[in-house]
Amino acid sequence: MSNSQTASELKRKTIAGVHDVQLYIGGQFMEAESGEQFENISPFTREKINRVASGGEEDIHKAALAAKKAFKGEWGKMKQSERLQYVYKIADLIDEHTEELAPLESYDTGLPLSITKKMVSRASQNFRFYAEMVSSRMVGKAYQVDDEFLNYTIHKPVGVAGLITPWNAPFMLETWKIAPALATGNTVILKPAEWSPLTANKLAEIIDQAGLPDGVFNVVHGFGESAGASLVAHEDVNLISFTGETATGSEIMKNGADALKRFSMELGGKSPIIVFEDADFERAIDACTWGIFSFNGERCTANSRLYIHEDIADSFIAALKERVDNIRVGDPLDDRTQVGPLIHKNHYDNVTSYLKLAKQEGCDVYRGDVPEEFKQGNFVPPTLLLNADNSMRVVQEEIFGPVLAVMTFKDEEEVIELANDVRYGLAGYVWTKDIQRGHRVAQAVDAGMLWINSQNVRDLRTPFGGAKHSGIGREGGYYAFEFYTEMQVIHVALGDHRIPQFGKK
Ligand code: NAD
Repeated sequence: MSNSQTASELKRKTIAGVHDVQLYIGGQFMEAESGEQFENISPFTREKINRVASGGEEDIHKAALAAKKAFKGEWGKMKQSERLQYVYKIADLIDEHTEELAPLESYDTGLPLSITKKMVSRASQNFRFYAEMVSSRMVGKAYQVDDEFLNYTIHKPVGVAGLITPWNAPFMLETWKIAPALATGNTVILKPAEWSPLTANKLAEIIDQAGLPDGVFNVVHGFGESAGASLVAHEDVNLISFTGETATGSEIMKNGADALKRFSMELGGKSPIIVFEDADFERAIDACTWGIFSFNGERCTANSRLYIHEDIADSFIAALKERVDNIRVGDPLDDRTQVGPLIHKNHYDNVTSYLKLAKQEGCDVYRGDVPEEFKQGNFVPPTLLLNADNSMRVVQEEIFGPVLAVMTFKDEEEVIELANDVRYGLAGYVWTKDIQRGHRVAQAVDAGMLWINSQNVRDLRTPFGGAKHSGIGREGGYYAFEFYTEMQVIHVALGDHRIPQFGKK
């Protein structure tokens, strides 16, 4: 069978498994109270995929009551070891459904199958990792105070966790939040992005199959302004973990202020890749190309600003152009595809408006091709914005597509200033063989996560998050406990310490 036949066969099977999507509340699949639905549209054909129940305030309220009841009841009272067995069970069930989940995610989002396969395996790892972390690393500290006191800390779950997620890596990002939230003992209401509802629904089916007590895990699909905003405002929702655009994050913080919500904010990025003249040329090209064009460029940590040392700029740009010419753009369900269509027509319009702007701002726009047979989808081919500079909007603003702004620099001091001259600070990449310079520059870039001579390889134990307008707080590893648990300190008197005796005669 040829690859395109395999892709059509896979698509046929995937489509056959897709049905209209309902909310999942209190252990039941149900329509929204209002009966409203919205259409989910294919990024590849712009045709309708299915209809999705559009949750609103009443549905969030129902989910909050169910989640609160479960927290106060069976889940809250369950032994940690028993709770973690459920978390492991979810991981096993995800693995059993990998063959189904990856194509479903590709069909829904336009992400190439080679990427969604990796994301699904990361999803089950998220659950296993947090089950292990909670049993082995969620430990308190003990403080001896002379011989008089013993003070110790414990971690307690916070309560009902509201998780709001984007469409760019839906299944992986949802599980990245759900796993620590459940493993630490909270109950969950997930509000997935409206443009990518399919795998969130599949996850509800999987978690239902895992047999968690009713109300521990709930999914309310719907729009940000209705379902999302109601979740943020609900008084029984104790924390909000949000991943999405910076502007949405700040709106959410305003809306949650009255209820004094606990927030974790994973926001936008415009991350630099800095390539010095002594870098390993071929590996730097590989990393730069992968870092911006993988995930269709819809990646928060994408290296969307390239600063290349002027001594190697001509040859580096020539090599990048060659890569751009040869990247395989196509059907997300074809295993060979490297770049697929963008998630939605609105996002496509936004990204293409930046390409027009780039020309107006004086860039030379160099683009790859989209094969004729795929022109119906939201395709933006890999694109280089040559002759860019930091004063341009296309360099300052997050485009979130396969678009790389290319700039040159003369020396270390200049490039640090250029790299930091944006409001974002999520990630950064430095390429040099000079080990001292590598560390120096990485430490001088104002961002949450830096890589030296490396592409974006993640270790789940390390803190994940951004500086400046890219976020507040860290998730990942032990750091997730600071957010998903309440730390309590218990002070124990070991003897009869002095207590002032007010009013005693
Ligand atoms: P978005 O902000 O438009 O939407 C994210 C989620 O927020 C969706 O579920 C949406 O329905 C919801 N939402 C929108 N308005 C809301 C409101 N007023 N109240 C509550 N919820 C609301 O983001 P997006 O377009 O889905 O995702 C792309 C963005 O996410 C990019 O900026 C990208 O950089 C960012 N991102 C960041 C990280 C990170 O870890 N820092 C990871 C992935 C994506």
